[in-house]
Amino acid sequence: MAQAFPHGAAIARSSTPVKPVAISSANGLRAVTRAMELMREGADALDAVIAGVNIVEDDPNDTTVGYGGLPNEDGVVELDAAVMHGPTHRAGAVASLRNIKNPSRVARTVMERTDHVLLVGEGALRFARAHGFKEEDLLTDKARQAWLTWKENLSTSDDWLPPHKPDDKDIGRNLDPAVLDAFGEYFRHTGTIHCSGLDLQGNMSCVTTTSGLAFKIPGRVGDSPIIGAGLYVDNAVGSAGSTGRGEANLANCSCRMIVEAMRTGKSPEQACLDIVQSIVDHTKLRCLLDDNGRPRFDVAFYAMNVRGEFGGARIYSGGVFSVHDGTEARHHPSAYLYKKP
Ligand code: ASP
Repeated sequence: MAQAFPHGAAIARSSTPVKPVAISSANGLRAVTRAMELMREGADALDAVIAGVNIVEDDPNDTTVGYGGLPNEDGVVELDAAVMHGPTHRAGAVASLRNIKNPSRVARTVMERTDHVLLVGEGALRFARAHGFKEEDLLTDKARQAWLTWKENLSTSDDWLPPHKPDDKDIGRNLDPAVLDAFGEYFRHTGTIHCSGLDLQGNMSCVTTTSGLAFKIPGRVGDSPIIGAGLYVDNAVGSAGSTGRGEANLANCSCRMIVEAMRTGKSPEQACLDIVQSIVDHTKLRCLLDDNGRPRFDVAFYAMNVRGEFGGARIYSGGVFSVHDGTEARHHPSAYLYKKP
């Protein structure tokens, strides 16, 4: 079986096999199932989690990742992804990548075949081409229709803000049902898949891959391909990932903070809740807050430590994440700060 680092960096740090665990976002039941199958066969956690999320990247019905992802405001699908390998503490990422449906595999190639961590846009595409990745049109009919509906209802539902003061309330933020997601008429459409794995050798790795915020300004990059924001692993401590409003994670270095909190002994769930609270405390822009002063967005975290303990948290109630810890893939409820309005 292919190993993440065939040249020998897949370090066995435990003489007795560890019980593998995989966690993922709510859309990751198939991902954790696949990751678990591979880890049980002895795969490195990085190979396993990438193979897991590839299933969702390939799925045209998931409009938040890979093929079928919702496009930017010009109707072009732009993908972001990152991988991080615990045993070697190496990482690779791509941002604003067009035409390649498995950005997580390109991110892994950046990690393994360059001395860089992040490639973006045209450079990332040229790099992918050089490594033989196939180009294809990623815009499905379903995603194009959704984009067209949004386009036809522009003006209050895009990301361009006029000059404003931090406490201005109505400055073009949308409540347009055409661009709102499964959370109801309150939140902007987001989505992504994260997957973290702990393998038989006791090593951890993770991946996050996304089409990003639907109808974003072209070139907008969220947290998913940013190490420390959308994902992070320290092989001695644990692994964390996120989905939801990327801007909040970028400004709070969320996943690195979660791993550091676990290092101090916090449970994965408590570490996730701490960063959720910190994001809420740091959200000052009035247009991002509702009448109760609470965020008009959600952000979700998933974390696991080296002992295989896991947890998740988000701002609002009702969320779940996916986990496979040996018996079956299942949804596990996320902790939260507030009841969903
Ligand atoms: N975090 C992703 C981003 O901001 C989007 C998402 O998870 O929905 O690009």
